[in-house]
Amino acid sequence: MENYHTHTFRCNHAEGDASDYAQAAIDKGLTILGITDHTPLPDNRWLYMRMGLSALPVYARAIEEAQDAYADLTILKGMECEWAPEYHNFFHEVLLGEYRFDYLVLGCHFFPFQGSWLSSHVDIVSPKRLLAYTRFLIESMQSGLFAFVAHPDLFGLSYFEWDENTKAASKEILSAAQELHLPLEINGYGLMNRIVRTKKGERTAYPWLAFWEVAKDYDIKVVVNSDAHYPNNVDQGILEGQDLAKSLGLPLANMNYLKGGCDV
Ligand SMILES: [Zn+2]
Ligand SMILES: [Zn+2]
Repeated sequence: MENYHTHTFRCNHAEGDASDYAQAAIDKGLTILGITDHTPLPDNRWLYMRMGLSALPVYARAIEEAQDAYADLTILKGMECEWAPEYHNFFHEVLLGEYRFDYLVLGCHFFPFQGSWLSSHVDIVSPKRLLAYTRFLIESMQSGLFAFVAHPDLFGLSYFEWDENTKAASKEILSAAQELHLPLEINGYGLMNRIVRTKKGERTAYPWLAFWEVAKDYDIKVVVNSDAHYPNNVDQGILEGQDLAKSLGLPLANMNYLKGGCDV
């Protein structure tokens, strides 16, 4: 089993460090472990859910130390990033360049709307906002910096009904992924924990089944990750997510190339 998406205590809403995840990964029989905490940003924005810039060297070192200590496990040095034009150079020059991160994950937790930044978790409550999220996610995907897109269907947390807008948004995201050959993530954390109540009953917020049913019509690949915020959850939802992909006929992406470092 492989997992390319985990968080450490540094983001202020997770527990454990790289070595704790490595031990848990070995205990649970994983072969590849990607550590991808929420990236710091050069302007230290949204600090309540990410490390500050000053923690970056220690974070990188903690992963490198785990790599040395757990030689039987492939541990990858990654980061989950909010893309924005003003951050592009930081990701490219500092994370991938100077710090030689193996890969970056796109996690679009915020998007610009009418002059301010909204949360992709709670603020996608109208078709206009859904469109803004969709367009910004695609612009982020087009940056060429990312190995895959975490929870592309995150809009399912605050946009409750499946309608022509969600269908159009899903199609736009899926065709961008197809064109860019960018794998999309089935998120294990969401699959096991994120239930929303809608007029039509309960459903998983993300992965939103309706999104992945549309995905069947596209030539895309998926990656299933736990998005663990606790070492003990390092494998959560991965088998279930793989079953979901299989039942829909969605092929798994081969992420093995990341072991050799990301070539951007
Ligand atoms: Zn998180
Ligand atoms: Zn994450």
